[in-house]
Amino acid sequence: MTYLQKILDETKLKNPNELEFQQAVEEILTSIEPVIEKNQAYSDLKVIERLVEPERQIIFRVPWIDRNGQFQINRGFRIQHSSAIGPYKGGLRFHPTVNLSIIKFLAFEQTFKNALTGLSIGGAKGGSDFDPKGKTDVEIMSFCQNFMTELYRHIGQFVDIPAGDMGVGEREIGFLYGQYKRISNTFEAGTLTGKGLSYGGSLARKEATGFGLLYFVNEMLKSHNHSIQGKTVVISGSGNVAMYACKKASELGAKVIAMSDSGGYVYDKDGIDFTAIHAIKEIQRERISKYLEYHPHAEYFQGKRIWDLKCDIALPCAMQNDIDLSAATTLISNGCIAVGEGANMPTTNEAIKLFIENNVLLAPAKAANAGGVATSALEMAQNSSRLSWSFEKVDSTLKEIMTNIFEESSKAASEYGHPGNYVMGANIAGFIRVANAMTAFGAV
Ligand code: GLU
Repeated sequence: MTYLQKILDETKLKNPNELEFQQAVEEILTSIEPVIEKNQAYSDLKVIERLVEPERQIIFRVPWIDRNGQFQINRGFRIQHSSAIGPYKGGLRFHPTVNLSIIKFLAFEQTFKNALTGLSIGGAKGGSDFDPKGKTDVEIMSFCQNFMTELYRHIGQFVDIPAGDMGVGEREIGFLYGQYKRISNTFEAGTLTGKGLSYGGSLARKEATGFGLLYFVNEMLKSHNHSIQGKTVVISGSGNVAMYACKKASELGAKVIAMSDSGGYVYDKDGIDFTAIHAIKEIQRERISKYLEYHPHAEYFQGKRIWDLKCDIALPCAMQNDIDLSAATTLISNGCIAVGEGANMPTTNEAIKLFIENNVLLAPAKAANAGGVATSALEMAQNSSRLSWSFEKVDSTLKEIMTNIFEESSKAASEYGHPGNYVMGANIAGFIRVANAMTAFGAV
């Protein structure tokens, strides 16, 4: 049995039932084999054995009161995975599917993603099984305040900096920051990112993940002599990442023909209208089927799989494990040339393997969706200097960071014998940065 296989088996034994966490570990360990062979020090110092164990795992009770005056109890999480290269950093997810396995996989991935940005941020993730769907603003506020009443003691601008993820946007960050400010009696803006512009947020933060995804995909296509212009794009999801991916894809000359939510997908042969999606999803918080009220010629498919549509580029921007082997097979036979992961771990390991074997260009989440957290770090920089940058300055810095991530991933893939395999390249480049810091620290 190889050294890495043994670590994987032990991780599975020690973390039974945590399938998503096991999957994320397996993906990284499969990629870094050539690195371990070349660098004895990593195994001597047990760097990998340390990385499969988060530095700290916090689970807490969140009691809150609903609109009927009834007590509700949810479970809160914060996994502080690694502080090797900077303070813990990563989003909060509020979704009924949230459990320890989901938050652990997200925190694990965040460490390598954050390392790829080249900025000084460690990895963390948190959240709750609280379901924001159908809740009133007052209920959301009550939940956020109670969640922060416990979380505040574990975070801080030099300790751990949460941000948004699924179910946590500017509204929730406002409630969370308000409560943090109240109970800590400090205006420590750098403690949360994704803030509103009136109290220390950054321009272009909400666009950053979707825009960054397109900057990465565009670089990847260019380096394989493809142009994004005129390509048809299918995007799963219609949240923050999906929405701004749609906007940037259209600006770059591609045509987004479909987007989805948990109910189904809309298909618009003339190209999805960003303004309508934005109005429905961000302002009205409604279902995507409402798109037909804006564009009656479009079609809505309830409960159908978006990946059955023929497209040149697929951008999974919804949930983990959205593209399985069967969806990948369909995409390949329909002539898809590139996949860009806007969501975290949206492709199963079997589907990743199939894409690579069939020469589909795959922009992996850790690299391709790092624009969000990178811009969070730019928000922290602005908070530290007490200055606000223009949209153009943030956007051009984001573009530079994404181009750099693409180049680093591409270089690492070639250096370790797998040119064009950006999954391996990104995993290797991120791992080396974290591993080198851990090596420097000794046994911590
Ligand atoms: N939740 C986002 C991610 O998956 C952003 C995290 C952040 O800005 O800290 O990277």
